[in-house]
Amino acid sequence: MSAAHIADLARFVTASPSSFHAAAEVARRLGVAGFTQQAEDAPFAIEPGGGYVLRDGAIVAWYVPTDADAAHSGFRIVGAHTDSPSLKLKPQPTAFSVGWQQAAVEVYGGPLPNQWLDRELGLAGRVVTRSGEQVLVRTPAWLRVPQVAPHLDRSVNESLKLDRQAHLKPVYSVGRPDLDILQLVAEHADLDLADVASHDLYCYVTEAPAVFGPTEEFFASSRLDNLSSVHAGLVALLDAESSGDVTVLACFDHEEVGSSSRSGGAGPLLEQVMRRLAGALGAEGDAWHRMLARSSCISADAGHAIHPNYPHLHDPEHRPLLNEGPLLKHNANLRYTSDAASSALWRRACEAAGVPTQDFVSNNAVPCGSTIGPMTAERLGVLMCDVGIPLLSMHSTRELAGTKDPGWLAEALTAYYAGA
Ligand code: ZN
Repeated sequence: MSAAHIADLARFVTASPSSFHAAAEVARRLGVAGFTQQAEDAPFAIEPGGGYVLRDGAIVAWYVPTDADAAHSGFRIVGAHTDSPSLKLKPQPTAFSVGWQQAAVEVYGGPLPNQWLDRELGLAGRVVTRSGEQVLVRTPAWLRVPQVAPHLDRSVNESLKLDRQAHLKPVYSVGRPDLDILQLVAEHADLDLADVASHDLYCYVTEAPAVFGPTEEFFASSRLDNLSSVHAGLVALLDAESSGDVTVLACFDHEEVGSSSRSGGAGPLLEQVMRRLAGALGAEGDAWHRMLARSSCISADAGHAIHPNYPHLHDPEHRPLLNEGPLLKHNANLRYTSDAASSALWRRACEAAGVPTQDFVSNNAVPCGSTIGPMTAERLGVLMCDVGIPLLSMHSTRELAGTKDPGWLAEALTAYYAGA
């Protein structure tokens, strides 16, 4: 099971170099399984079966079972995010320096900037034409941010300081001032540059994911935070048997920059879709709130395994390892949503699936991150917990997971969707 799951996760990550591609790949796989796309500007015509709304780099998918009814059903929701830290092309990206052609980039989210050095990078995202048509674009390896050699900068091994404006600009050519990066993108996308109105293009690492280790227990890839959760949620949505509740998978964009957007977790997307689904089931007014009262949500996002070289950064009583099960994340100050009631829900799902789970709580001296969980709880008021697979090197361009945890996460989410 775990080898097949990891192979499929590797295919999913490879097909998803940007949030736009991730949402499109989820939609493609849903389409193969018979789910139909619901246009947001058309009436929600809900019949038993699967559907989805695709909005920019986000997707909300659902399955309405034949026995769903507004008087008894609730929503079982899994939330995740499609974006990862990256370098984003600036509006006028073509730049020149001492004979080199470079792409001007902004830093998106909180990467480890050194991880972007000396790797072959492609560009992925969307361009939008003057008429408003969106075209997904993915180039092969075109760029690289070259690190300075230690012979030229003896201080580089003492403490690497990267200036975000000066030192993270990738090169894409040398001695070819005629090569404009946007012109190249337009040609690659079979578009006329004059027809390109704007773009959302991000660098991505072109190196393929890999399983490694003497007993093949490790999985290395970019974007495991948080495509590991998007993929697990999708597998679960497609596999789960019906509990009579409406199952929902919400994959938001922009988590890495605070989620405040029309496709982010702090935005209205999930609630809009749920209200329209409830409306189509006949649950208006008080009936909508009764449906919410029967609902719950698992926010799935990658977390931190204990690091053998930095064990003091974890709490001594909570030392999650790779391949010992997905994390249940706790935080007294509610950076994570898990509480006693929702933790019991997660443990029931793991037990039903026969999957181990580990508790994560921060060392008090090390402030923890957050997820789309708290903002979703704030908007919907449903029972919620935060979970996710343990990683090392989170926000690296080559994160490290165990080969067992991603499949276990999918199995636990499947059990949750099925009514555990
Ligand atoms: Zn994340």
